[in-house]
Order: sequence, then structure tokens, then C-alpha cells
Amino acid sequence: MKRFVLVVPVVLFVLSACATVQNTDCTQGEVRLTQDFSNAPDYACRRTGLAAFELTVVPESTPINPSPWFAFDIETAREAEVSIALDYGEYRHRYRPKVEESDGNWIAFPDSAVSLDDDGHAATLRVTLSPGRYRVAAQEVIGIGERAAWREDFAARNELEIETIGHSLDGRAIEALTRAATTPDAPLIIIVGGQHPPEVTGVLGLRTFLTTLFADAAANAALDRFEWLIVPDLNPDGVAEGHWRENLGGTDLNRDWGPFEQPETAAIRDAITARHGAGHTPFILLDFHSTRHDVIYTPHDNAGLTPANFSAGWIALLNGAWTGEGEAFARDPSHNPGLPTAKSWFALTYNAPGLTVEFGDETDRERVAELSRAAAIALRQYLEAAETQPGLDG
Ligand SMILES: [Zn+2]
Repeated sequence: MKRFVLVVPVVLFVLSACATVQNTDCTQGEVRLTQDFSNAPDYACRRTGLAAFELTVVPESTPINPSPWFAFDIETAREAEVSIALDYGEYRHRYRPKVEESDGNWIAFPDSAVSLDDDGHAATLRVTLSPGRYRVAAQEVIGIGERAAWREDFAARNELEIETIGHSLDGRAIEALTRAATTPDAPLIIIVGGQHPPEVTGVLGLRTFLTTLFADAAANAALDRFEWLIVPDLNPDGVAEGHWRENLGGTDLNRDWGPFEQPETAAIRDAITARHGAGHTPFILLDFHSTRHDVIYTPHDNAGLTPANFSAGWIALLNGAWTGEGEAFARDPSHNPGLPTAKSWFALTYNAPGLTVEFGDETDRERVAELSRAAAIALRQYLEAAETQPGLDG
């Protein structure tokens, strides 16, 4: 059944304005707001009218990267003009509110439905909803159950193994998708995702990237020349809890590659170390994220890593494969070089290139897919031509 989301004009006369509000519980009544699903935080909610709510959007700890995530359901028994105020405190509005349609696709509410107050420290979403239940969030909600199902399906379709390499603080499995090389000393390629819970375009991009990369894998000899370790969802607890950034240990996992004090990062380190010990020299690491625009953070070309100039070569091939609008990714070789991120640790530890692939928060989702396909096609081309004998690559 098609549901209708109508946008009301800027000036809204909330029905409840002239009614006495008896019940301040958001989860009861004809129009209700609940936060009861994987990926939903548990923010304090205050009912300010029969169809009006105020959510206090707070991070799991401070200071923190400003990624004010929200995800909730609105259920209404009647057509209602609904108002949801998001109070960001010291942080500012970042994500355009989106709603899941009945076909499972997500669309952003138009700008006219969202008003920013207090210099962006608060935002109010005002919409007219027909009777029904609506999932509203900062980005597409992809809960941990759906992520596990995707991994299982992807592995089955592409003949990858699923290996539990460790467990999160809350005991959730950290799963790797693996694919063995045909030679015992093949170089190791590592692909990481899901370190930062709100970075959904990174999840979407990684899915298309992997799907393209492994399409017709049986016919692709280049893939066979490498050992593959793919961990798409390194922070399941953070996703389940609707965190802005961290795991349950209060740690930004992409600042823990070096200390390895958290079980999630320790698990992937141990998985890499074990393969290295078995003769698979780490070759490249790609780590998928989201930020405000489409950009790849790379090492400097003169960093003396092996394979030499992977970044320049791959990105040139990517630009060659790019058929979309404008330029593909920007490239930034100077981002966070001194922090214990995956890419920095990889370069320091293995003298090999680690790259962070970032998609814009609000990049059109078809463009995310186009970028990811180009990136995967380019990587296949790079790997087909790559010299994998140690000492012969520059
Ligand atoms: Zn990130």
C-alpha cells in the first residue's frame, strides 16, 4: 500500500496547541514516537503536544566527532500534522531526515519540512502523516540483523567463507568474509567497513564495491592471486545502539589501530597477523567510511610503501572507469597521518598502503553506486596487472 507523506507549510498550527496535554509519554497515545529497533538510540523524548515531540539528541560520550544520529518510529492512528524537534545541544544538525517508504527505499524529506533553529543546534521536522507507521532516521537504517543477512547472502553467492574472527564487547560475532588464494604465499588484501555507525553511505558503497569486485569471480584469475580478508561490520554494538561514533568501550575504533585495546580492533589485527604469519604479505587495506563529500584519503606518493604508488595507479584507473557526473572522488594525501587509524597503522606496520574511502553523507545514492562500481572495476584492473612477487614492484 502506498503511503503518503505530505509536507505542510512553514507555519504549522499543531492540533495540540489548543489542547491540554495530559500525557508526556512519547510512546503512548494516538500519535506515538518509539525508538525500539536495532540502530535506534534511546534518547530522552518529551511530548510537547498530541502530535509534537522533542528528542534530546546526545552522543554516547564527549568529546566526539559531530555525527548527531537519530532514528525513530512515528505511529499515528489518524491523519496528523506531526512535529519532531531535535535538540542537538552543543552539536549541530548534520543529516537530512529521511523516511523509509513502503517499498523499503528511503527518501529525504524536502528542505521545506525541516527548519533549523538556534544556529543549527536544533532542527524541527514538520510533516503531515496519514495513518500508519513511519521509520524516520538521519540515514537509512541498516540494523545488525540485516547486515548479518547481507553478509551471509553475499558470501553464499560469491563463494566466500564466513569466519568469526572475534566478538564485540557485547558478545556479537565479528565476521570476516574470506577467500583463499590459489597459491600459499599470495599477498593479502584487507577490506574494512562499519567502524563508525552513522556512516551509512560507506556501507552502501562497500556493498556495491564488493558486489562488483566479486562478480564472475570464478572467471577472474586476478582475484585468485590474492588472499582476501573482508570485515564489513567491525562495530556491531555501535550500530545496534545507534551510536554516533564509538563501540561500547567508549572508543572510536578508527583511533584504536595501534593500541588495540578494544576486542573489535584486536580481532581484525589478529586475523591479519595470523595470515601474515602464514606467508600472506599484507598488500593493501581499504577502509570504507562517510564524511561530508566523496574523497579518498591516501598515503603520500613518496611514502616509500609497497606496492609503490598504488594510490595514484588505482585512482587513475578509477577516473578512467568513471562515467558519472563531474569528477569522481577527490584525493587527500594529508588526512590524519599521525592518528592510530587503520590506514596509518597498516603503513607503519607493513609498509603497505592503507586507504580510507569516504562517501558524502548526502551523496545521491545512485552516485554512491556509480563511484563504487568504478572503484571496483579499477581495482580489478590494477590487480590483473599487479606484480605480486616481493621485491619486483618498484
Ligand atoms: Zn568514519
